[in-house]
Amino acid sequence: MNLVLLGPPGSGKGTLAKLLSSELSIPHISTGDILREEAKAGTLLGKEAAPSMKKGELVPDHLVLEVMKARLKKPDCQKGFLLDGFPRTLRQALGLDDMLTSSTKSIDLAFRFEVSSDCLLRRLRGRLICPECGADFNLHTKPPQKDLICDFCESQLHQRPDDAPEVILNRLKVYREQTTPIEEHYAKQGKLRKINGESCPDSILKNALSILQSEKR
Ligand code: AMP
Repeated sequence: MNLVLLGPPGSGKGTLAKLLSSELSIPHISTGDILREEAKAGTLLGKEAAPSMKKGELVPDHLVLEVMKARLKKPDCQKGFLLDGFPRTLRQALGLDDMLTSSTKSIDLAFRFEVSSDCLLRRLRGRLICPECGADFNLHTKPPQKDLICDFCESQLHQRPDDAPEVILNRLKVYREQTTPIEEHYAKQGKLRKINGESCPDSILKNALSILQSEKR
């Protein structure tokens, strides 16, 4: 299965991606994670991407497409993959289609997460990450056992810089303006499936699996 997860920041794409990835044994590919790692390592790509990420803007399409072209060629993608945070523009969606067509593959389904603006803002404001091991927490839905300390490696938890209130609003605006149009791209191909992103992670996983099951029939 080659799957795309579509939805604004905070809609639960990453959480479902982790659960589905272990259920289906296919890799979870998050462009946000890849770009943050590049920025942390100070690579040329990371340096080019960092200013846009800091402002909550999109990293230029040609850079993201280059990264994804290399990532999707890796052997772990041969049996399928879950894309979280890519594509984010129509140009990226068309670029992805071209990459896949040249290896006789295609996207099977795109899940679109439906979450109210209030819920998105609450989730994003409560989100915390561990800068050392990358574990994620949420003050409202998945709090750490000790205040602001990672359950796994005991490092101090941080807010992602782009989860700062003014950047959050920009990221939601960028999603509405630049990413929403690609829903139509998948809808036209009969591949868009809606998911209620406000339920608990287990129900969301069950819903996604039942959609996948009914597609196989
Ligand atoms: P995320 O972790 O998916 O919220 O992504 C964090 C940031 O990385 C975004 O706000 C963008 O600056 C950048 N980014 C991630 N994926 C993409 C993409 N497909 N296209 C452009 N920029 C991206």
